[in-house]
Amino acid sequence: MVEANRTVMIPLRIPEGSTADFHQTILPYAYCQQETVDHCWPDNPTQPADLQPSKQDAEEALYDRLRADTNEQLHSNLVQKAVTDATAAISSYKSSWENGDRISKPDFHDRERDGYTMTYDKRAATYDRYEATVSTVNGTVTCRYELPAEVEGTPYGEYILDRRWSFSTSKLIFDGERFWLHAVMHRQFGDDPVYAPQTDDSTSDTHEDTHRVLGVDLNVDGATAVSSTGQFYGNADALNSYRSEQEQLRGELQQPGTRSAHLRFQQRRGTEWRYYDQYAHHVANSIKQEVLRVRATHVAFENLTRIRKRISNLPTFQQWLFKNVRKYTEYKLERYGVTVDTTNPDYTSQACSRTDCDCVDEDNRDGKQFACLECGYTIQSDYNAAKNVGFRYLNTELSSPAGHTCSSGQATSQLALMSGTLSPTGDCAEHDWVSTDKPYPQQASDSSSARAQ
Ligand SMILES: [Zn+2]
Repeated sequence: MVEANRTVMIPLRIPEGSTADFHQTILPYAYCQQETVDHCWPDNPTQPADLQPSKQDAEEALYDRLRADTNEQLHSNLVQKAVTDATAAISSYKSSWENGDRISKPDFHDRERDGYTMTYDKRAATYDRYEATVSTVNGTVTCRYELPAEVEGTPYGEYILDRRWSFSTSKLIFDGERFWLHAVMHRQFGDDPVYAPQTDDSTSDTHEDTHRVLGVDLNVDGATAVSSTGQFYGNADALNSYRSEQEQLRGELQQPGTRSAHLRFQQRRGTEWRYYDQYAHHVANSIKQEVLRVRATHVAFENLTRIRKRISNLPTFQQWLFKNVRKYTEYKLERYGVTVDTTNPDYTSQACSRTDCDCVDEDNRDGKQFACLECGYTIQSDYNAAKNVGFRYLNTELSSPAGHTCSSGQATSQLALMSGTLSPTGDCAEHDWVSTDKPYPQQASDSSSARAQ
């Protein structure tokens, strides 16, 4: 028996006036998360072992009190999920610490302003093919899915409407602007696959230990940043023509050499740099939104010294811009516990990003068009590179012992892609990746490791 999980991100249509029901539900939910953190995280811990992320211990110690503290308004199952979320978070902080990273105590309290996540299993929610009914502190709310105009070939058509896949524990996300259901679809593949049997939901807290990487490719033309989810941010061409206009203007202002001209020149220069700085913030902000939308845990950029090698004569200005986009992204994501890192981008623009193809050839790329000479895969070339940056990071930075564990399969690593995610197979082979929509051996799936607990 093999099985697979697939996460489908569905925008939700919240009924008129019900937004507040969710904003009110996150308050006791975050309270339970934070109480759990306080329970598992002693004052001034001095070593990773001081952190006690046992879900069972925390639940035994806290459950009755949390139910009482929240006046039993929060669904009992949401109390349990809040505890699970918090212990999972501490568990990942603990491994980061063991890995030598600096960490600080997670704070779930002020999440409602910028966004939040609540975990719903099938005791606190009913998942249907067109809508979900979820528990809030003010009773249940039914939300229709925003459906694509054409369902064929979309994750919605492929997984939600296909009855061989069934819903398991999923997440409700508010990203600061809108609500999403990150539906975890589960399927078992038997000899005669008909319908996936309903599984006991307490076992399917999938993706709790998941590293999910968003790869980002930076460019001097076209879009400034392109993500592995196929999003394009910033307009480098417009920025470049603004720069040349400014250069020309500066030249003219410099000519007369008078004091007032010099002042105007300085003012111009100030305005110009504020413009670039805002541009960098804008791009970083878009990346941040995408990271929250796909629940990425890591953002991988190309290493700047390597970009300089890739793009010869990379102007100082572009170096400044790339550095700041990365810096601002890091800054904006710090409070979400998202790691922003860099990886070696060698060949990321020449290599085919299809996981079953290892063709690397400079002729694969023709400007913004990538067409693999070996397998024929055709894709926008920066998007191809962004996927490779993400893969490279998964393979080199996250496949260390602190990354996905081969033996237990407890922590998994994924690359965030347009219609979902790709996961590595259980055998840790460097280039051996499968899409989670394909069956993979049971010992490698994270739901089976949850079952073994
Ligand atoms: Zn190929």
